[in-house]
This record gives sequence, C-alpha cells and structure tokens, in this order.
Amino acid sequence: MISVSKEPVVVVGNGLAGISFACALRQGGYTGELTLLSDEAEAPYDRPPLSKAYLKDGDTQRIRLDESRLNGARLLRGVRAEMLDLDGRKLTLSDGQVIPWGTLVLATGARPRELRSLEAFGKPTLTLRTLDDARRLRELIQPGRLLLLIGAGVIGLELAATAREAGCGVTVLESQARVMGRTAPPTLSDYVAGRHLRAGVDLRLGRVMAECVEGEAVLDDGSRIAPDFVVVGIGVRSNDELARAAGIRCDDGIFVDGHGRTSAPGVLAVGDVARQVHPISGEVVRIETWSNAQMQGAAAARSWLNSDTPSFAETPWYWSDQYDLRIQGVGIPRGEREVVRGDVSAGKFALLQFQGRKLVGASCVNNGKDFGLLRKLVGLEYEANDQQWASAPDLRKIA
Ligand SMILES: Cc1cc2nc3c(=O)[nH]c(=O)nc-3n(C[C@H](O)[C@H](O)[C@H](O)COP(=O)(O)OP(=O)(O)OC[C@H]3O[C@@H](n4cnc5c(N)ncnc54)[C@H](O)[C@@H]3O)c2cc1C
Repeated sequence: MISVSKEPVVVVGNGLAGISFACALRQGGYTGELTLLSDEAEAPYDRPPLSKAYLKDGDTQRIRLDESRLNGARLLRGVRAEMLDLDGRKLTLSDGQVIPWGTLVLATGARPRELRSLEAFGKPTLTLRTLDDARRLRELIQPGRLLLLIGAGVIGLELAATAREAGCGVTVLESQARVMGRTAPPTLSDYVAGRHLRAGVDLRLGRVMAECVEGEAVLDDGSRIAPDFVVVGIGVRSNDELARAAGIRCDDGIFVDGHGRTSAPGVLAVGDVARQVHPISGEVVRIETWSNAQMQGAAAARSWLNSDTPSFAETPWYWSDQYDLRIQGVGIPRGEREVVRGDVSAGKFALLQFQGRKLVGASCVNNGKDFGLLRKLVGLEYEANDQQWASAPDLRKIA
C-alpha cells in the first residue's frame, strides 16, 4: 500500500531511469504529487540513437521518450538540483526554488570522463553523452575529415562506424590491447576490430597519446596524427555529487539495495548513477546499460508501491550497432570456458561463457534468435556438454 508520508515524490533526472520510475509509479496507481526535474532544457530523449541513427538522420522526434503516461506530473527543465537536505526533506534548485519531498529519486546518470591533456589542443574536442554533443558531431562529421577517437569502447566504436560510413577518416587510439575490453570477450573484440579494419579504420591498439603539439597528437611510439576533430570516449563517471554531499553512501555511484533504496531513508537511486549487486558476478557495480536504466527504474517504483515486491535481479544486457553488425551481450563477458556457436568468420555467431556448468554470459553477432533464448538461460547451471551447446539447432532443447 502507498503510504501518504512518502509523498510528494521528486525525481531528479529525466533520462530513461527517471522516466521509467515515474511511469511505473503512475501505472501502479500512484496519483499523488510527482515532480521530475532535469538540468537539460531538452524534452526527455533516449541516448542510444545518439551514436547511431540520430547521427545519420538528425531526427529528434524519433528519439523522444514517451511522457504521456506521467499524467499530471510537474516537469521542470533546465533546472539543476543543487543541495539536498535529508533531515528537512528539501531540495534546493539552481533557480532558487526549495521543493519539499517525501520520497526523492536520484536518477542523475553519468557524464563522460574528460582528458585534461587535450584542453589546449586547438581542434574541436568533444565527448558524446547529450543531444547537444550529437548535434555538434553531426556538423563535424563530413566526408574527407579526420576523426581521432580516443578510447575503443562500445559507444566510441559506434561513432567510428557511423563516421566511417559518412566518409570520414577515422583513427582510433586505445591503450588496451583490444577493443570493447570491458564488455566483450576477446573473441568478440578481435572480430569487431577486424570489421573496423576492413572498413578502413586506422586502429592503434596498446597506444596512448604522449603529447599534443600544434593540433597534432604525438603517440607514445612517436607517430603523429593531425585530426580535424577529436572525440574522447574513455568511459563515464557517475553524477553522485548531490548524494555524496548529503552524506549518502557513495563510491563513484550511489549504493542501492535490490529495491533501489540508498543509505538514506526516503531516498532511492536508479539507472547509471546506482551502484548495485550484479546478479551474475555478485560484484557491486554501476550497470551502464539501457536495459538496466529501464528495468531497475521501473522495479524500484514497484517496490516503492508494494513492499512485497521481490528484490530486483534481472540480468543486464546491451546491444550495439556497428556497420552491418548487431552485437548483443548479456551477463558477464568472461568465464573459464568459451563455447562458440555458429561461424565467426561468416559473421553470425554466439559466444557462450561458462563457469563450470553455469552459463554466466553470452555475446551474439547478427544472431538475434540465439540471443533471445540466451537472455533467459544465463545465470543457471546445465547438464549439457560443450559439444551440445555448440551444435544444438535449438537451444531450448538442451536447456
Ligand atoms: C551515445 C550513447 C549511446 C548509448 N548506446 C547504448 C546502447 O546501444 N545500448 C545500451 O544498452 N546502452 C546504451 N547507452 C547507455 C544508456 O543510454 C544509459 O545507460 C542510459 O541512458 C542511462 O539512463 P539514466 O536515466 O540512468 O541516465 P541519463 O540518461 O544520463 O539521465 C540523467 C539525467 O539527469 C540529469 N542530471 C544530472 N544531475 C542533475 C542534477 N543535479 N539536477 C538535475 N538534473 C540532473 C542529467 O543531465 C541527465 O539528463 C548509450 C549511452 C550513450 C550516451
């Protein structure tokens, strides 16, 4: 049952996690006072297209998040939550307003890490997180220009593919020995790297920038790159300052339990900013995926409405589009054994990660059929042997 003392509900951040929380609240029958606020002036939008479809078509209507189920919520845009008073249950905003809350939901997401060494580079230097970033990139991505991308993570590589397809030269600088090192098993990293090389990307693995001189990047092997613009894609840090300053337990992310509850009574955290137990690895991590923002946001609202709601334990998954590749991953990208289903060289396959008999993760390329099933199978132990996993025409039959 809803307790009146929890009202009003204030959600800070109207990205996917904040919107998912608020929509699930309304859907679950909450008719009380609900405020959503964001420091972005834009109407709420989805971020995944910013490195893919939006860069190509520039269509902002197609990326809008659906606010229609927020029935009567107060939406404040272009205003920042600056101070959180836990004892008085008040929030001070950048325009001077002080708003009371009974429950506060921190859905403040994350922001890109920046490279100080590029401050005086003399060429346009960007990160990619917001619609404004993507708008600037659309102007910069022109045939014949050279993009230097620092960091070969998932979002950066999507941008590299989009830029390459638009006729840009692309050089990717990555300090690790492989691409997508955090999200992909090595077999997938190698495959994706090969696809970028085939597309003409100049991939410099295991290299870092030593210095930048007059618009040129000098690498640690002495080679020089003179890009027209630079994009830094070296990961994100959480927007947990508001919580940290108020004394809520944080460590680059706000610690939450399986109901989205933080260490402060009445304060929840959802989405990229939340640090939670990973259902497969057991590690306490931030899960920076669309699926987590959507599912964990909605689950926290259901728990808020009904205290009998089970703890959130959905296995996170992601997708990425690069050239003609639809990459999908679920669970964790490392096990003690990998089983390959399909033909890697033919570009349609699944890589299954096992810890003993337990399927701990799977990564698929152009193989939505297997992925749909693997999403449901991950996290459990099975009797089937590796040969059966590799060759069974239908995974349902062996699970
Ligand atoms: C370019 C890009 C491509 C992506 N592609 C994929 C993909 O293909 N697949 C996938 O699974 N995931 C993808 N992701 C990740 C996914 O989009 C994120 O995990 C998800 O958007 C996180 O949602 P969120 O609501 O937690 O945070 P956010 O979307 O970051 O929203 C948080 C909002 O809170 C605002 N805010 C912060 N602090 C304050 C404050 N003090 N006061 C007011 N407002 C504040 C922020 O400005 C922001 O608008 C991508 C992300 C990006 C950036």
